[in-house]
Amino acid sequence: MGRDDIRIIAVRIRDVTYGYTNIPVLESIDLDVMKGEVICIVGPNGAGKSTLLKIIAGLIRPWSGSIEFNEERPVIGYMPQVESIDWNFPITVEEVVALGLWNRSRVMPWLNRDRERIRKVLEDLSMIDKAKRQIRELSGGEQKRVFLARAIVHEPELLLLDEPTTGADPSTRDDILRVLYELNREKGVTIILSTHDIKGVALKQPRVVCINKRILADGDAKDILTEDNLLRIYGLLDTSTVL
Ligand code: ADP
Repeated sequence: MGRDDIRIIAVRIRDVTYGYTNIPVLESIDLDVMKGEVICIVGPNGAGKSTLLKIIAGLIRPWSGSIEFNEERPVIGYMPQVESIDWNFPITVEEVVALGLWNRSRVMPWLNRDRERIRKVLEDLSMIDKAKRQIRELSGGEQKRVFLARAIVHEPELLLLDEPTTGADPSTRDDILRVLYELNREKGVTIILSTHDIKGVALKQPRVVCINKRILADGDAKDILTEDNLLRIYGLLDTSTVL
């Protein structure tokens, strides 16, 4: 077996349980994510998708269980749900992206090299002409692009994306997916994203994990996202709205 054939586990989640009150919202979660893999997490509202991403990102410590990484902790890029952010303060697009560099270096990034990175990532996401605009002036789809830029500008090895395409129009969605695939293919970035978009996002991913407090299914998108499973997971009566 050649070196490239050895599959390395990037994230090993074992028996993770967590709740905000005394009732768990995640229970006994076991999940192995391989290096260079793209994984899509689906499940109804309140299923615990955001919580799981925050636990992997190290923002929340689980009640019990463990999160282990291959060797040392990887550089992580995290994109929160943009809808939950209050924009009642002035900050420009390029300043938001610069915060992603600050995460890594703890120094405000105004070196030429950093500026070049910010420019490149905004260009890749078709946002360079809006670099000096206030973030609150942008549409929801544009804000998504900026937050993705912030999550990837420091060249993470592991990317965690909380509903990166929700509320985005199809062209924004496809741009976001294109940038993610490039990072995955060209730089080997491991990607874990959550989505509600079964047809536009989940079915295009190689591996889908369905959760609702526990892991309900894990495997190939086409095997997992069947009408029967969607009915079971979401309680949908009319699956034609998502398939
Ligand atoms: P999802 O991302 O799948 O919609 P979440 O992880 O956001 O699910 O939420 C899981 C459960 O935890 C929900 O019942 C939600 O109401 C609850 N929850 C999420 N965040 C908090 C919080 N900060 N405080 C209390 N309860 C929370």
